[in-house]
Amino acid sequence: MKAFDCKMCGDCCYGEGGIFLEEGEKERIARFLKISTSDFLNRYCEIRNHRTYLATGDDHFCIFYEKRKGCRIHPVKPARCTLWPYFPANVNDRETWEAAKDACRGINRECSFEEFVREARAITQGKSASG
Ligand code: SF4
Ligand code: SF4
Repeated sequence: MKAFDCKMCGDCCYGEGGIFLEEGEKERIARFLKISTSDFLNRYCEIRNHRTYLATGDDHFCIFYEKRKGCRIHPVKPARCTLWPYFPANVNDRETWEAAKDACRGINRECSFEEFVREARAITQGKSASG
């Protein structure tokens, strides 16, 4: 039984700009969109607290979220998006994991916190091993 199985509901793409970009991500996404990095920053990002965040649209979804289709930059989406729901806060704290279940229907209610943590470790270690 998987502790997480994405239902593709898009709920995690909703909300005011929590997705910040890490080193090299703006260039990677700009290349994927076939635009310059400065164009990408002007059209799709906002700077807050010295960090670059993806902007949100008028519907309050991430600017790259398309209803019924999902993420328009899926192959190159930011590490923050790839990592969810295995954020360190969810993995390190049972109460935060409980709260995350309200935000993400893909977190299996039948699984224990320990199973979620085991799965998170296997997945995040696999990702770092494969680069
Ligand atoms: S909220 Fe959870 S189940 Fe829904 S798309 Fe995001 S990760 Fe998948
Ligand atoms: S980049 Fe894609 S996966 Fe990440 S919040 Fe935006 S639409 Fe969702």
